[in-house]
Amino acid sequence: MESKIIKTEAKEIFTKTKLPGADWVINQYVGCGHGCNYCYARFMSRWKGHGEWGSWIEAKINAPDLVKGKYVAGKVFMSSVSDAYQSIEKDLELTRKILESIDKNIQLSILTKSDLVLRDIELLKKFKDVEVGFTINSFSGEEKGLFEPDSPDNSRRIQAMKILKQSGIKTYAFVAPIIPSVTNLEKVIDQTKPYADYYWFEIMNLRGAGTECASLIKEKYPENYEILRDKDLLKNYLNEIEKLTKREDLKIIGIELH
Ligand code: SF4
Repeated sequence: MESKIIKTEAKEIFTKTKLPGADWVINQYVGCGHGCNYCYARFMSRWKGHGEWGSWIEAKINAPDLVKGKYVAGKVFMSSVSDAYQSIEKDLELTRKILESIDKNIQLSILTKSDLVLRDIELLKKFKDVEVGFTINSFSGEEKGLFEPDSPDNSRRIQAMKILKQSGIKTYAFVAPIIPSVTNLEKVIDQTKPYADYYWFEIMNLRGAGTECASLIKEKYPENYEILRDKDLLKNYLNEIEKLTKREDLKIIGIELH
């Protein structure tokens, strides 16, 4: 989907956050051309009034200036309501300019679905404490088209994770959103284990994903939908994940449930 670009100027770029594992967020973009249909940030569309999620992107063009000469203590997460390496970044290079300007002593954590992050590998190496996470799923073919049609394939993300890891940059796999037995966890772990320093897991948040996505899952995958809805079934499924991660001896930071 072609996204409308709205250029804005912000007053601040570091925002305090209560997101798990982070103290600050940087959102140089608001809105995301990846347009995943489960995106929990889609609520921003109601506030912004620019149209449906995925059809617009606000770009804070002064973001690189706002990070200059500033230091914040604690982990800075990039980004919570966008992807710092969505396609528009190829032209605008806001993320790249931020990485050039920001204090390299800042503890930075980037989460993306795009291998465009490889463009900035030399900049990332300059940071004292940086990590790059990739949202990974096993979606391909029809599932990829249904849930995240406009983001790079998982294979590209895994290849990028491999290159970063081989370049000495800390990496992690954010395995999300997990739809029980649709997301093939064994496959994801098998493909990422050599390159991921640690893992986060997140179960599909039906409420956050919105009614359209929830109805789609219910229609296409009724049994799997039931697992997400039923406390006991979900508990059994979580036990299975725990067994799998123990068997694979993975370092797990968390399994997010909503
Ligand atoms: S890549 Fe992330 S921020 Fe962008 S639409 Fe998908 S889930 Fe939302």
